[in-house]
Amino acid sequence: MRVLLVEDDALLGDGLRAGLRQLGFQVDWVRDGLAAERELRAEPYAAAVLDLGLPGKDGLEVLAGLRAGGLTLPVLVLTARDAIPDRIRGLDLGADDYVAKPIDLHELGARLRALVRRAHGQTQERLSAQGVLLDPAARSVSRDGAPVMLSTREFDLLQLLMLQPGRVLSREQLEQQLYAWGQEVESNAIEVHVHHLRKKLGAELIQTMRGVGYVLMKDVPSGAPR
Ligand code: CA
Repeated sequence: MRVLLVEDDALLGDGLRAGLRQLGFQVDWVRDGLAAERELRAEPYAAAVLDLGLPGKDGLEVLAGLRAGGLTLPVLVLTARDAIPDRIRGLDLGADDYVAKPIDLHELGARLRALVRRAHGQTQERLSAQGVLLDPAARSVSRDGAPVMLSTREFDLLQLLMLQPGRVLSREQLEQQLYAWGQEVESNAIEVHVHHLRKKLGAELIQTMRGVGYVLMKDVPSGAPR
């Protein structure tokens, strides 16, 4: 899933970007508040990691502006260790969670996964549909209990679809949510990944809505008419 990192400290930003990438996030990084506002309005990020002390426009102002503008994406703020007033102010202004510096990368990753899950109305840590089980933290997938090996992109695409069962996503929407800046998108990449996912996980899981996009079929509750 694609996240925007907003951090002006070059060393910290670089380390967080690298670390979050290792955890499987696609990360775009900006270093000031105005750039953060611009990108968050332009791109469909799954979440934002927002430092509060920023040049140009500080993080709390950015946050207030986003919420006033109706943007609902999950925002996690980075605060100084002892800055409890900052945390409170951030939460009051619409932050969904915070992590204190010095930052524990694995805690940050877990909190981001939880925020994205909740933003999609998912209560379970692992996503399931049609006998397929996806574990976002372990980045593993199984089908009817048997492990299935997926490429990074196949996993990311499946996760996006499983977070939003029943919702049709266009190829363009999927590309925007899968690829960070500077990553080249081949014109038929999504079709190829869907093809591979069907081969590995069954033909029925992901349906093509011709001319519109792709949708992951919701589980039919047992006992309900099919
Ligand atoms: Ca800062």
